[in-house]
Amino acid sequence: MNKELFIESVEKLNINLTNEMLDQLEEYYKILVSENAKYNLTTITDKESVYLKHFYDSLTLSKIIKLDNQSLCDIGTGAGFPGMVLKIAFPNLKVTLVDATEKKCNFLKLVINKLNLKDIEVINARAEIYSKEVREKYDIVTSRAVAPLKHLLEYSIPLVKVDGTYIAMKSDITKELEGISNYENKLKIYNQKILTFKLPVEESTRTLISYTKKEKTNKIYPRRYNEIKKKEI
Ligand code: SAH
Repeated sequence: MNKELFIESVEKLNINLTNEMLDQLEEYYKILVSENAKYNLTTITDKESVYLKHFYDSLTLSKIIKLDNQSLCDIGTGAGFPGMVLKIAFPNLKVTLVDATEKKCNFLKLVINKLNLKDIEVINARAEIYSKEVREKYDIVTSRAVAPLKHLLEYSIPLVKVDGTYIAMKSDITKELEGISNYENKLKIYNQKILTFKLPVEESTRTLISYTKKEKTNKIYPRRYNEIKKKEI
């Protein structure tokens, strides 16, 4: 996706990127590519693919939720997708980027410094540990391409405020919905919306699934990672 098509496609998402934001994305792209040799951050490095599969794709979160000045936590953000891109496009968001890998966190801090972004923090932690302590804190929690939906729900929902939203960004989720109602009941959430669409240009499938949290999460969740993996909730 070249720059023109990127801008045009983003406008169709009803997002207006200022010149400063476009410059920030360009700078982000340059840092990503130059640091990638050291850190192995992404396999996607050619410019048109980064603009499509990382930048545009991250912004599609706005198809399912209005982003404004809420607090947003991105679990397993990797090189900053979607959290860093959303921070650039929606500067009023208060963003927390969480990733288990230290080198990725160092990269994220470098980008934040170079772009001089405010109200954004990086937490180097595993989500299932972080969410043991940090409860009911964020308006929105999201993750793109991190783990099976059931795992994501168990360690992400505790972080969400009551009446807040959790959104998973995935390709295809049909197989992941089997037995999910048990998770919905135990975690006191309800499935608000499922949105399926195709990315422009390459036409691959994307799915956004959003949940609303009805009540505080029982302290027994999340369980330890081994249990999360071994046994359904
Ligand atoms: N969201 C990014 C990265 C996906 S790769 C993107 O879409 O491009 C998955 C990332 O999640 C990795 O960076 C990995 O370190 C992180 N991760 C996986 N499981 C995690 C966990 N339980 N807690 C925190 N980070 C996790």
